[in-house]
Amino acid sequence: MSAFRAVRIDRDAAGGQQVAFGTLTDDELMEGDVTVRVERSTVNYKDGLAITGKAPVVRRFPMVPGVDGVGIVEASDSDLFAVGDRVFINGWGIGETHLGAWAERARWSSDWLLPLPSSFSADEAMAIGTAGYTAMRAVLALERHDIHPAAGPVLVTGASGGLGSIAVALLADLGYHVVASTGRPEQADYLKGLGAKEIIDRAELSAPGKMLAKERWIGAIDAVGGQTLANVLSMIRYDGAVASCGNAGGLDLPASVAPFILRGVTLYGIDSVYVPKAIRLIAWDRLDRDLDRKKLADATKHIAFTDVIDAAREIVEGKVRGRLVVEIG
Ligand code: NDP
Repeated sequence: MSAFRAVRIDRDAAGGQQVAFGTLTDDELMEGDVTVRVERSTVNYKDGLAITGKAPVVRRFPMVPGVDGVGIVEASDSDLFAVGDRVFINGWGIGETHLGAWAERARWSSDWLLPLPSSFSADEAMAIGTAGYTAMRAVLALERHDIHPAAGPVLVTGASGGLGSIAVALLADLGYHVVASTGRPEQADYLKGLGAKEIIDRAELSAPGKMLAKERWIGAIDAVGGQTLANVLSMIRYDGAVASCGNAGGLDLPASVAPFILRGVTLYGIDSVYVPKAIRLIAWDRLDRDLDRKKLADATKHIAFTDVIDAAREIVEGKVRGRLVVEIG
C-alpha cells in the first residue's frame, strides 16, 4: 500500500468542503480495472466549480478533482490495455463521482480510457482536453446542420476561454468567418492570432434583449449560457443553429420560442462527459486532422501541480486565457 500526492476535497464538520494537497493510498482508490500513473491533467471550468463549491459538482467525499488525465498504465486487469501503455481520459464522472486526475495515481475503468494516438503528445492531448474535444463536437454539430463556411459568419462566445479558444481556431482553419465575443478586449490580438475575423464586446450580448433581434450569424458555439445564449438565439439568421456547450454566464435560459418558430433556428445541446467511445473517436480524429498544433500551443500554458488549486479558483473568475496543462508526474 503506497501513498501518493493528490488534491483532496474533503467535507468539513459544518457540511462545507476543505480543499488541500494531501495523500491517498492505493486502498483508497475507487473501483476500476486499470491503474494509471498520471503524467498530466488540465484545469477546466468544472474543476473550478468543484474546488470553489460554487456548484454541486462533487458528489462524493473525499474527491480528487480533475476531469482530464493522461498517463502510463501501471496495472491492468483489462484486455484492452497493458502495463506501459499511454492512455487518456475525459469525463465519465471523474472529478465528480469518481476520483479524478489531480493525483499521481488513479484507478479508472477501461471502458472510459482511450489509447493515446501516436499523433498526439501527452501535453497536446491535455491542451485539448475536455474543453477542446467539446469544441470539436460543437463544430461537428454545426457541420451536420449544413452550416458551411460560405453560409455566413459564426459566433463563438466566451472566446478567450479554453473551449472558446479552440472553437475559434478550429472554425477559422476550416474556413469560417469567425466572430469572437469576449469581455477581455486586451485579448483581441490573441483571438485574431487564432483566426477570429471580428471581435465583439460580450456586453453586447449580456443585457436583456428582444425576442427577435437583427439577424447576424448563421451559427454559434456558446460557452456562456444565460442571457447571452438567449440573445444569441434572437440574433441567429434564418435556419441557423447554435451549439450550447457551457454555462460560464449562467445555467438559466431566459429566451422565447420566437427564434425557433419564426426563423427555424435550432439549438443543439453538447455534452462531453458520457459520450460513447465511438463518437469520441470521431471527434479526436477530426481534432487530429483540423486543429493547428501551433495555435494549440499558443492557446496553452503549463502550470506546476502545486499551482493547480489557485488556477482552478481563477478559472471561475474568468481570469484564465485558453487552456491550462497541469504537470503532475
Ligand atoms: P473558461 O473559463 O476557460 O472559459 C469561459 C469563458 O467564458 C471565459 O474565459 C470568459 O471569456 C467567458 N465568461 C466567463 N464568465 C462569464 C460571464 N459571467 N459572462 C459572460 N462570459 C463569461 O472555461 P472552459 O472553456 O473550460 O468552459 C467553458 C464553459 O463550457 C463552462 O461553462 C464549462 O462548464 C462548459 N463546458 C461544458 C462541457 C460540456 O460537456 N458541455 C465541456 C467543457 C466545458 P471572455 O473573457 O473571452 O469573455
